[in-house]
Amino acid sequence: MRKLKRVVTVGDVKIGGNNPIVVQSMTKTKTRQIKRTVNQIRRLQKAGCELVRLAVVNKDDVSALGRIKKSVSVPLIADVHFDYRLALGAIDMGVDKLRINPGTISEIRKIEQIIEKAREKNVPLRIGINSGSLPKVILKKYHHPTPEAIIETVTNALDIFAQHNFDNIVISAKGVEVKDTVDVYEAIDKQCDFPLHLGITEAGTSFRGGIRSAVGLGILLNEGIGDTVRVSLTADPVKEVIAAYEILGALGLRQHGPILMSCPVCGRCEVNLEPIARAVEKRLQKYDNFMKVAVMGCVVNGPGEAREADFGIACGKGVGALFLKGKEIMRVKEKKLVDTLFEVIDENINY
Ligand code: SF4
Repeated sequence: MRKLKRVVTVGDVKIGGNNPIVVQSMTKTKTRQIKRTVNQIRRLQKAGCELVRLAVVNKDDVSALGRIKKSVSVPLIADVHFDYRLALGAIDMGVDKLRINPGTISEIRKIEQIIEKAREKNVPLRIGINSGSLPKVILKKYHHPTPEAIIETVTNALDIFAQHNFDNIVISAKGVEVKDTVDVYEAIDKQCDFPLHLGITEAGTSFRGGIRSAVGLGILLNEGIGDTVRVSLTADPVKEVIAAYEILGALGLRQHGPILMSCPVCGRCEVNLEPIARAVEKRLQKYDNFMKVAVMGCVVNGPGEAREADFGIACGKGVGALFLKGKEIMRVKEKKLVDTLFEVIDENINY
């Protein structure tokens, strides 16, 4: 049963309550390289990213935020560690949200200044806790970044914000392992009503990271936990956005853009299906519309699956059947299959 969280507003995006789970990502450029950063933000936004976070590591990054903000329309989040003055500067530059980590900015007087500035500008804060950067006092007590250590860090941070009467907060708390992260979020979900930002830290490259994120986020989202997600991958950040929508789509929580269904291929297949599926997948990236496209290897399950999709191909020997909204409309030679599929998609996309 989903426990509704309070709503936090980031620019024009709402996190929490009954709002759709928000997809976010993070740029991988140096923020001060304004042109590259803006280009990456625009690519992320085109892929469906609804909030973009940027690393702010020095004064040049802070200065760049103002120009970047003017060049893009998606709300921006500044990610600041160690130097609270960068956090204050980022808020002054007009960011829509700030992420801080109690493990890297822990002095109360510094946190107090951030809270007051965030209050003045009505900027929400994410308290982002990572197993790799827990406060020293906690690590001394628990020796390792255990789920208990992470939960105590969250509790201590929330106490500080409560003492200062500040509740414009989103929380994230990531463990070393996927299972730890799930345990931590389940505990925090019971403990408070602040929206939760889900992510699996240091998940890995696209394949491993995608799987680990799908497992961790999938468990939590299916339990009704989580209000915004970021899939962390050692890869182009656009892949993070695509992966996030795949996870949300698999759970029936959000749909964004086309869905490609393709069969795994077996000994019945008479065509080289993988390049066909990859070509279709690549060309589908240009489309924003939600549609199901099936690429199937043979006539056993192929026609049935292709009929369920909006557009589909079921391949035979050197030839494929093309389906539109469940009906076979033509047979096409293998070489022309992909081009013809997209001609049919373009002709019928708004139907
Ligand atoms: S659709 Fe045909 S080729 Fe593909 S896995 Fe199923 S039986 Fe095998």
